[in-house]
Amino acid sequence: MSQPKRVLLAAPRGYCAGVDRAVVSVEKALELYGPPVYVRKEIVHNKYVVASLESRGAIFVDEVEEIPEGSTVVFSAHGVAPAVHSDSADRGLKTIDATCPLVTKVHAEARRFAGEGYQIVLVGHEGHEEVVGTTGEAPDVITLVQDPIEAASVVLPETDKLIWLSQTTLSVDETLQTIEVLKGRYPNLMSPPSDDICYATQNRQVAVKEIAPQCDVLIVVGSGNSSNSVRLVEVALDAGARASHRVDSAVELKEAWFEEALTVGLTSGASVPEILVDEVLAWLAERGFATIELVKTAEETLVFSLPPELRRDLKAASLQAIKPKE
Ligand code: SF4
Repeated sequence: MSQPKRVLLAAPRGYCAGVDRAVVSVEKALELYGPPVYVRKEIVHNKYVVASLESRGAIFVDEVEEIPEGSTVVFSAHGVAPAVHSDSADRGLKTIDATCPLVTKVHAEARRFAGEGYQIVLVGHEGHEEVVGTTGEAPDVITLVQDPIEAASVVLPETDKLIWLSQTTLSVDETLQTIEVLKGRYPNLMSPPSDDICYATQNRQVAVKEIAPQCDVLIVVGSGNSSNSVRLVEVALDAGARASHRVDSAVELKEAWFEEALTVGLTSGASVPEILVDEVLAWLAERGFATIELVKTAEETLVFSLPPELRRDLKAASLQAIKPKE
């Protein structure tokens, strides 16, 4: 009897606490202040989420200089450099900072170690918004190293006060390799007090590693500029998936990928709403992959409260709504 076609559905997958908070921040700002609400950069790296917020009145811009003075702006989950805060103040913008608290933690570490006289190696990808924001905290003492290859040749300052930090959405394994190479060349390189690669990135990678060895093809739902989504494809291939592809949504799936496949793995990046995974499951079911096995490697319960400036205005609005009319 032939083996049935099946889908191994990874869990955890999809939205993390930081993305949920950022998206809800824009939704609440639109409700509270009315459109337009400006958002600096993509609030999270997902085309579907950005398009759906645009349809409700959010306007995405690259820099605060594009925003009319006195408007409301939300900063994305990836964080901003201090200069963006001061430029916003100069334009009289009302700011809501939806930077993920786990990115804010890395900013705080960069400030603290720079203040204590350290030189900092930031492991991350050049040009990624989070890296730009973190570097902006201490540009004179941060050296960016992207991968083990760069680690083998980078020239770091000769000092005993040398520490590494990282972008939150990297491959755990590749980052360890990068640090190993750096420590081989700079034995005095110190490690940060706690992990910078966030819980959500790590959990999604662990779940993919669990299913990958059984998968003929492993699909990652996520946008091309989403670091953690792109990493999931790399992790899947490293962990033994015969093939792996990233798609923004079901319309990008190709019949040819599944011609020989019996077991398909499925996961999604931390900025991906579940509706996009459901659409991929429906597409697969139409092609005979109707059996879904959930493979859960962790429980996630973390929730972040909304940015304080937004909570304050929401509270004021609700008090206003219940105040008796004079
Ligand atoms: Fe925060 Fe991690 Fe989610 Fe980025 S992926 S928003 S760091 S929880």
